Amino acid sequence: MNKKYLMTPGPTPVPEDIRNEMAKPMIHHRTKEYQAIFKDATEGLKKIFKTSNDVFTFTSSGTGAMEASIVNVLSHGDKVIVVRGGKFGERFGEIAKAYGVEVINVDVEWGSAPKPEIIAELLKKNPDVKAVYTTLCETSTATVYDIKAIGEVIKKTDALYVVDVISGLGADDFENDKWGVDIAVCGSQKGLMIPPGLAFCSVSPKAWKAVEASKLPKFYFNFKKYKKAYDDTDTPFTSAITLVIGLKKAVERVNAQGIDKTIAEHQNQAKAFRAACKALGLTIFSKSPSSAVTGVNAPAGINADDLIKLLKTELGVTFAGGQGDLKGKIFRVAHMGGIDREHTIEAIKALELALAKLGYKFKAGTGVEAAQKILK
Ligand SMILES: *Cc1c(COP(=O)(O)O)cnc(C)c1O
Repeated sequence: MNKKYLMTPGPTPVPEDIRNEMAKPMIHHRTKEYQAIFKDATEGLKKIFKTSNDVFTFTSSGTGAMEASIVNVLSHGDKVIVVRGGKFGERFGEIAKAYGVEVINVDVEWGSAPKPEIIAELLKKNPDVKAVYTTLCETSTATVYDIKAIGEVIKKTDALYVVDVISGLGADDFENDKWGVDIAVCGSQKGLMIPPGLAFCSVSPKAWKAVEASKLPKFYFNFKKYKKAYDDTDTPFTSAITLVIGLKKAVERVNAQGIDKTIAEHQNQAKAFRAACKALGLTIFSKSPSSAVTGVNAPAGINADDLIKLLKTELGVTFAGGQGDLKGKIFRVAHMGGIDREHTIEAIKALELALAKLGYKFKAGTGVEAAQKILK
């Protein structure tokens, strides 16, 4: 077992040219040399977000940027709407509560997408709501939300629109500016194909007004500190230099073929993977499947975690399991970032071998064949 295939929805495989770039000798961050790298990385990132707003880079995992999107625009006692359809929606609510923000939950059945009309109704009933927090791809259920349609609803109000695009960016369609997103929150270890450790926030002019009024405590993630440094092509604290060097290379890779083509490629891989599952007689968990990650129901009599263990130990392929109530019931396979056609085909081959070993009955090769028809 020489080759290993990392198919989890974060971290994702880091391509060789990006790894090599990050292996170069360390440089200092207060230099012209680093400033040029940081500028290219940021400008490249803005193209991927499809925004002309500032995009700040933090040294933290994605959750740090989620926290930043709360502490910078709210005050104690403010009211917000949070869409809860999985682990990551829940997290927004937990952070808000930790800071004494009042949360109105939109509870969505796991695997379903929220209905924009429900958010419209809540906004009408609660005109004092300061912001709506939701997710592009709810990674725990592999479900994509209609961020464009929800944006149409929020545009008509004074509320801010905050979207966690951590896993969806680069695989699911996303248009920061056209869809009226005020803060988009992202991380480095998913579609951006670099290691964990960087987080990002885009900040709209409407969000800046809220920043001015915000009274929640903040220090490390204070947008004002980042803005001041950003205008000098700098970061307020020591940059995660190595990761930013990797980010520059990663955004160059994406923008060389263009973000739209990149998304189309991942969408095609997701489609091929779903077709393979269908051919194997497996069903997809989500009613609104994301192209960043697919959640598959384990067949009757097979525990998803046993399947995952077998794939990892005997075939070198790493899938992710279900979270919370979905543990043992689903397995999740990513299509984002550095995951390419080869990974997808190898993953399907391994899935067939593992299913056969666990006694599942199907015609060998049908999954691979179905995927190849789409990936040809
Ligand atoms: C991975 C992920 C996060 C969490 O990011 P960390 O880097 O683990 O802090 C948040 N939201 C979504 C949708 C994710 O997929």
